[in-house]
Amino acid sequence: NTNEMELVFDSRPVNEGFARVSVAAFMTQLNPTLEEVSDVKTAVSEAVTNALIHGYDGKVKKIMIRCWIEGQTLYVEIRDEGKGIENVEKAMEPLFTTRPELDRSGMGFAFMEAFMDNVYVESELGKGTLVRMKK
Ligand code: ATP
Ligand code: MG
Repeated sequence: NTNEMELVFDSRPVNEGFARVSVAAFMTQLNPTLEEVSDVKTAVSEAVTNALIHGYDGKVKKIMIRCWIEGQTLYVEIRDEGKGIENVEKAMEPLFTTRPELDRSGMGFAFMEAFMDNVYVESELGKGTLVRMKK
């Protein structure tokens, strides 16, 4: 008995807010606390920003979000078909960034892990990246 939704949108910075608010709107059926909504928004924002900046290097391609609710649990998947991550374990370490010149602090995955109950990343070089999170 799950409830699911999917979004596909251009990897333009303006759509980062759209993605964040859309997932927040979808999760209202769970009667979340303000803190839970804010945690999910932060995590979605980090994952979408990563797809824009790292996955697609600023090029305009598609970002896919799939969300579903099972019982009282929200699952969110953010996927790009960009360049992929060479070493996922390393990429997820706090302070690790491949783009220090862009003033990136390497904290995106650390925030996702702090604000969500589970973060799972699957990536293949040249194919893209999938981030699945649970709250
Ligand atoms: P910050 O999020 O603090 O601005 P950051 O984006 O570099 O900095 P993380 O979000 O933790 O830090 O990501 C760590 C690294 O993982 C990135 O520097 C990048 O190399 C890689 N990465 C993350 N998401 C993707 C993605 N969707 N596609 C390709 N590489 C990615
Ligand atoms: Mg990041």
